[in-house]
Amino acid sequence: MLKLSQPNISEEAIAGVVDVLRSGYLVHGPESEAFEVALAEYLGCHSVILVSSGTAALHVSLLAMDIGPGDAVLVPDFTFPASANAIALTGARPVIVDVEPSSYTISVAALEDTIRCWDGPEILKGIMPVHEFGAVADMGKIGALASQYSLRIIEDAACALGARDAGGKVGKTSEAACFSFHPRKTLTTGEGGAIATSSLELADRMRRLRNHGMERTAAGMRFMEPATNYRMTNFQAALGLRQLPHLDEWIGKRHRLYRSYQNGLASLVAEGKLVVPRIETGHSLQTFMVVLASRFDRAEVIHALRERGIESNLGAQSLSAIGLYGKPFLPSINGGVLADKGLALPMFEQLDENDISVVCDAMAAVLAD
Ligand SMILES: *Cc1c(COP(=O)(O)O)cnc(C)c1O
Repeated sequence: MLKLSQPNISEEAIAGVVDVLRSGYLVHGPESEAFEVALAEYLGCHSVILVSSGTAALHVSLLAMDIGPGDAVLVPDFTFPASANAIALTGARPVIVDVEPSSYTISVAALEDTIRCWDGPEILKGIMPVHEFGAVADMGKIGALASQYSLRIIEDAACALGARDAGGKVGKTSEAACFSFHPRKTLTTGEGGAIATSSLELADRMRRLRNHGMERTAAGMRFMEPATNYRMTNFQAALGLRQLPHLDEWIGKRHRLYRSYQNGLASLVAEGKLVVPRIETGHSLQTFMVVLASRFDRAEVIHALRERGIESNLGAQSLSAIGLYGKPFLPSINGGVLADKGLALPMFEQLDENDISVVCDAMAAVLAD
């Protein structure tokens, strides 16, 4: 079976975890500190705060910005539900905005229209752009809108560790960029997450919010506010720390595989059977998702590929289709299409060009008229 994705854990990383287990330092410890420093150096940002998941990173970031009941946060329709869940868990309202069909990221035009037309009882406080599958959202324009309308930006960068745009790596200058280290992501600690921030004040608050609201003073522990326990363990950090030096090489390999897909799928694209996404150089290619033409039933395609020994899956969800978060404020069209017709194909650095031809040949057979 050709898998959709596969973690990349070296013997060195396994040995690092074993060392931690023997050391007795199991919760936040020296490996966690070292991983935070290494990530901050890698991203070029001021501070990194490790947490227990990507969802925890989003939740802590929103809490650190005092977003809660009576507030609203703009979020793209096409994403994993954790983006909207984190907003809803603070008591704020997620406001769904349509996405771009070629990059799958939030539509800046729809975002601007929603902000201009907003008349809800809640106050718009923030934008949560999602760097879907490693495609960096248009942060220049989103940043301009945020300053014009005094909105905070909480980046859902769960898929985008190592992604970059003209401004540098995602997280380099962010108020809050939230990464996930779930096994489906390129670098994994099992469960895990991190926040990159350039604000010292937010960094302190985030550290406190992940750790029972506690601060250590000369006099001992002080509990400053009700908070969570969202710490990452020391042995998870050991795993991440040993993968990080390989990340850029892995992303480079994923780009070579993407070019093979581009060639291998070109005739299906020309025949109008599927559309491939626009992949910029800074894309981190956590997932490669094509969009099937409307006449194809995705479940049938997934089944037929499985019969040929290839694992595939849907890409992400449409928040408006889930129904838990209300309707989009303005109509959302693309999110639903991507959620219904998006097909994620195998993409991980241990694959080779030959595996990609096998997938492309199977796609041609499965989509044959
Ligand atoms: C994976 C993912 C998350 C959630 O990350 P966890 O670490 O599983 O909590 C959130 N948003 C997006 C876009 C994701 O892909």
